Formats: sequence, C-alpha cells, structure tokens
Amino acid sequence: MPELPEVETIVTQLRARILNRKISEVVIRTPAILKSPRSLFEKKLPGKKVDKISRRGKFIRIDLEGENTLWFHLGMTGQLLWREDLQALDKHAHLILSFEASCERLIFRDIRKFGGVAISNGNPELLPTSVRLLGPEPFEIQQDDFAALLKKRTGIIKSLLLNQRLLAGLGNIYADESLFRAGINPRKRAIRLTQLELERLYKAIRETLREAIASGGSSLSDYIHINGESGKFQNKHQVYGRFGKPCKKCEASIRRVRLAGRSSCFCPQCQK
Ligand SMILES: [Zn+2]
Repeated sequence: MPELPEVETIVTQLRARILNRKISEVVIRTPAILKSPRSLFEKKLPGKKVDKISRRGKFIRIDLEGENTLWFHLGMTGQLLWREDLQALDKHAHLILSFEASCERLIFRDIRKFGGVAISNGNPELLPTSVRLLGPEPFEIQQDDFAALLKKRTGIIKSLLLNQRLLAGLGNIYADESLFRAGINPRKRAIRLTQLELERLYKAIRETLREAIASGGSSLSDYIHINGESGKFQNKHQVYGRFGKPCKKCEASIRRVRLAGRSSCFCPQCQK
C-alpha cells in the first residue's frame, strides 16, 4: 500500500508534468471510485489550470485555479500514470484526465478499487472526512509534541503509528522500519516507552521517511512511478517482508507477529 514516501514521490513527479497545465477533458469510466458527485468532476475540471500539487498524509492534493481541489487516495493498489499510449487503459483505468497541448494523459488505475478521488471547494466542511481528521505530518510535528501524542497512551506502539488521526502518512512498511531503526519492539505499549525511546522513534521515523523518498519509495506489489518505473527502497528494508531471514545488523532471524489484524516484522534481538 502506498504510504507517505510513495505519495510524496508521485507528487514530485506530477509537478514536473501537470503543474500550470489546463485540463481539457475528463473521462469517467468507473463512477464507483468517485467520492464526490460525478457532476462536479464533469463541470468543475475542464478548462481549469493546475495551480498547486501537494501531499497531506497519504493523499495527493491537486489545487485547481478557482476554488476546487482534487484529492486522490491510492488505497491498496491505486496508481497514477502519465501515458501517451493506450496500453495502460485496461479495465482498471477508472479516470482519465487530458491536458491542453499534451498527448499524455493522467490515468487513475486501481485493481482493487480501495482508492478513489474526491473534489472539494474552499469550504473546509466539505473536505473528505478522512482528510479533515488527519493528524499532524511527521515532518512538521515538533519532538515534544510527538512525545506528548504517545506517552500517555496504553495502546501498542505499532498500532498507534498506523492511526492516521494520530500521525498522518505511516503504514505497515514505514512503521515497521522506523521501529527497527529506533530499537523498539512493535508490541510495546506506548505508555511504557522512555523519553529516550520516544526521541529515538521521532528521529527514526523522519530519517526512514527521508531515505525512502530519496529512493523513490518501495515497489513491492502495485506501486510504481507515474512513468511506470519502480521505487528502490524495498532493497533497503531491514525488517518489512523479511521474516525468517537474518537481521542485517545482528543475524538473528526476523520474526513476524500479527498485531491488530496487520502483520509486523521485527528483530527479537535488536528491538526490545
Ligand atoms: Zn537484529
């Protein structure tokens, strides 16, 4: 599932292609992926220039001239592709945006359809709920505020890190990788973390995310860049997807446990 680094990578790639370009045509092939009324997409997009592209949590935010904003969420298997040929236009291509003076089109493709796209205007009450309730960004929150978020919570740290209302952007991959880097067992309760552990975790999350962004994210199943290339951070994973393999630091066998319905990989030696 695409997480903060994958979404950030796509945002950067989109800026190079569609910033300041005008949408010329909107083709909706699967109305079910629209999280706002279809008529809004048909009326509010054509003729509008892309003013700004940014990220909030795992959402891609595209501000159009005027007051409307598009919110893409890639869900489990969503992709945004920039293509000229028709190859990418299989039955999983749900939304196609054409731009003036361009042969390439922006295609939203999603095999499992857990992703989607919403449109909002300037009214904050019309924001998708999942956007409105997002917690702070890992690169914006201060260390003290991060510690305050967690230190009185009785929940296990891995589950808390996945909670988008607490902290936006982390998913299974980067929660596992950050906990390894901080030397913290994913099953530990947040309330039992020391000040030093909270400090290490804060830094580990930011370092892990920065390195993953620098590598273009992790391509494990469906996530690819908008030109179809793969990310490279999967080659640097220390624990995620490595259960049964030796820890790269201490050679102990990486373990996998199920926590709150999600699998977690960790090193029993390095993470106490
Ligand atoms: Zn280890």
